[in-house]
Amino acid sequence: MHNGQGSAKKRRLADEDDELSEVQPDAVPPEVREWLASTFTRQLGPTRRKSDEKPKFKSVAHAIRAGIFVDRIYRRVNHTALMQFPPEVVKVLKTLDDWSFDVFALHESTQGQPIKFLSYDLLNRYGILHKFKMVPATLENFLLRIEEGYCKYKNPYHNNLHATDVTQTVHYMLCKTGLMNWLTDLEIFATLIAALIHDFEHTGTTNNFHVMSGTEAALLYNDRAVLENHHISASFRLLKEDDCNILQNLSREEYREFRTLVIDMVLATDMSFHFQQLKNMRNLLTLAEPSVDKSKALSLVLHCCDISHPAKKWELHYRWTTSLLEEFFRQGDKERELGLPFSPLCDRNNIMIAESQIGFIDFIVDPSMTVCSDMLEVILAPEKPPVGKERENENTPAFSLVKPWVVSLAENKKHWKEKAVTEAVQKKQNEDVKVDVPTTKAE
Ligand code: 5GP
Ligand code: MN
Repeated sequence: MHNGQGSAKKRRLADEDDELSEVQPDAVPPEVREWLASTFTRQLGPTRRKSDEKPKFKSVAHAIRAGIFVDRIYRRVNHTALMQFPPEVVKVLKTLDDWSFDVFALHESTQGQPIKFLSYDLLNRYGILHKFKMVPATLENFLLRIEEGYCKYKNPYHNNLHATDVTQTVHYMLCKTGLMNWLTDLEIFATLIAALIHDFEHTGTTNNFHVMSGTEAALLYNDRAVLENHHISASFRLLKEDDCNILQNLSREEYREFRTLVIDMVLATDMSFHFQQLKNMRNLLTLAEPSVDKSKALSLVLHCCDISHPAKKWELHYRWTTSLLEEFFRQGDKERELGLPFSPLCDRNNIMIAESQIGFIDFIVDPSMTVCSDMLEVILAPEKPPVGKERENENTPAFSLVKPWVVSLAENKKHWKEKAVTEAVQKKQNEDVKVDVPTTKAE
């Protein structure tokens, strides 16, 4: 029997080992496996999650009505105090509902302020600006400061573009799958803000780097979810400033609920919870009548959106990959300076990019998107028809999502497989050159 907390912890870690053992096949180079283990599991002394207590939500079962969407969309504020959108920005935002929305085009048309325009537009479209009585100028200030925070460390990847990308992807999930109809206005608000702030003031280095080099943030957060704690804490601190406080007209209860949701969602973007998060959801979905907790569902959606670029069009995915790797390499440069061992994928002179991306798609992104789709199908399936009124054709699923990510994932994998061949040849050539040169010392 596993009753004690110790055995529960052991079991949990063993579960993660099981998950990772699925990743063991020899097809994955050791470096990729090491990276998977160090990034997506808890190796450095597992943090204990808060109890599984669920936040209390008002019943919203009856809010699931098709009309809500239309109502929300057309409740946009329409008065002169609203921020002005240049025509070229309006043009790009016309494609806001697309899965492969071009966030780089938005960056250009907004002259480096994609967060400001996209977030403002979304909060207006969902009727949040109106519902929570935001002062447009306060919202603008808040968004400007968030945008600045994302540019603080001039990161190639974890910058305002990534925040915009994740927020837009969350918007896709909310509006194109119908997820928004399962949620209250406050939950939609919290989800959009969680996406927006989820990497605020990212340092361009990993949690592991913070811990290993003993940064101020690692000291402050005791080596646990260092970055995620910072993103949340710094954002709520900003929200306390009068001219940025877009929450000023929320009731005390609304504020508490909003804050709990945002904290839960952003903490769940810590990649070391990945395997556990997926396993828990999979287990839940095997039950005869699964009841999915809102906070858990939204956390999984945000986590998936956070790692969704490999499921977008190749041109977008390739660009994100280059940026992320450059950020990893800069961390590697710092590690070299500090005399620390290289973190996986951070040594710019020794990396197999295509192989590692195939590993990332196969073992992380693809399974995440699958669990997320399964979850959405369970949540969003219409209630069973009454007896005698069953569907005529039992082979037709009750509800099926449109999944644009499936095609892109397969296409991107194909691209990387082609590149992997060239990469392997290149590696072999480099090794041969090393062997040929007599002065080169053996490693
Ligand atoms: P974030 O740091 O943005 O909150 O979480 C995303 C994490 O997923 C990254 O830090 C990185 O570990 C991983 N990730 C995202 N995109 C890629 C990718 O294209 N390749 C690899 N290897 N890892 C990725
Ligand atoms: Mn992120």
